[in-house]
Amino acid sequence: EVKKNGRNGYQFFSDDLNGQLLEQLELEADLRKALERNEFTVFYQPQIRADNNEIIGVEALVRWQHPVKGLLPPGLFISAAEESGQIVELGNFVLREACRQMRQWHDEGGPLIPVAVNLSSQQFLQYSLLEDIREILRETGLAPKYLELEITEGMMMDATRSSGILNDLAKSGIRISLDDFGTGYSSLGYLKLYPIHKVKIDRSFISGITDSSNDRAIVATILTMAQHMHMQVIAEGIETKEQLEIVVDSGCQDIQGYYYSRPLAADDLKQKYMFPLEASK
Ligand code: C2E
Ligand code: MG
Ligand code: MG
Ligand code: MG
Repeated sequence: EVKKNGRNGYQFFSDDLNGQLLEQLELEADLRKALERNEFTVFYQPQIRADNNEIIGVEALVRWQHPVKGLLPPGLFISAAEESGQIVELGNFVLREACRQMRQWHDEGGPLIPVAVNLSSQQFLQYSLLEDIREILRETGLAPKYLELEITEGMMMDATRSSGILNDLAKSGIRISLDDFGTGYSSLGYLKLYPIHKVKIDRSFISGITDSSNDRAIVATILTMAQHMHMQVIAEGIETKEQLEIVVDSGCQDIQGYYYSRPLAADDLKQKYMFPLEASK
């Protein structure tokens, strides 16, 4: 029996184990084909400085342009790609494409802003990570300071290993940003051990911020801590003016969220944010 309400349309026979295995294999095969056929594409969400509405960066977010199902968000395929190991190839594609695109926008006279790329834990632990990234930067000609890698707290469980990796990356001039900050289980102690340039306040604290004094306290605390530790802060998932005002009043000017823009295809991002004056001529 085929379940119609499947999470991602791959939820066939999901009640039994064989079915799940089949489902996973099917998705794996589909991902392999998609990689071969170049069906993955990168969207970009602008990061905005609230006091002057200027673009200060973009986050690269992968999409699967599926020939039948249309544009699929990463929530539907990233974990499958991680389980199958295909995330390394997919992740390198996103890195290369994001760096190539940002270098092109710089060359065309766009603002000299960085591009942020999400790393999966498998990618992070690849022995070839540093080499892969350096090669991509060489190939695309993007200066390392314009690449920001987004990692999550969960990736830093093995402290010795992760501090080695992060220090190598930072020494290369690449910036490190801690995504979904506040949602992991690790202690705050690691923050002082690693070269982390920026924390991204998770959307879950922002969504309740208008009603919950606890969420406001968490946001304020993250801001104070980051300031003392000389880290930048950006708030993720700002959707309303009210949320924006609270966050700005708390001292956070750097904003990413639907309030300003959803993630956009490269051409749309370019027209609206990289060369807005030319587009309005
Ligand atoms: P993330 O890195 O935390 O990225 C932010 C997610 O929040 C994006 O979802 C973005 O569209 C969404 N978002 C931004 N502003 C708002 C808002 O105001 N309201 C709401 N409700 N959502 C907002 P997206 O693109 O579906 O990506 C989901 C997650 O998939 C990302 O979370 C990231 O963990 C992962 N991901 C995306 N691209 C890649 C990639 O290239 N590699 C890896 N490893 N993971 C990726
Ligand atoms: Mg991210
Ligand atoms: Mg996030
Ligand atoms: Mg995330």
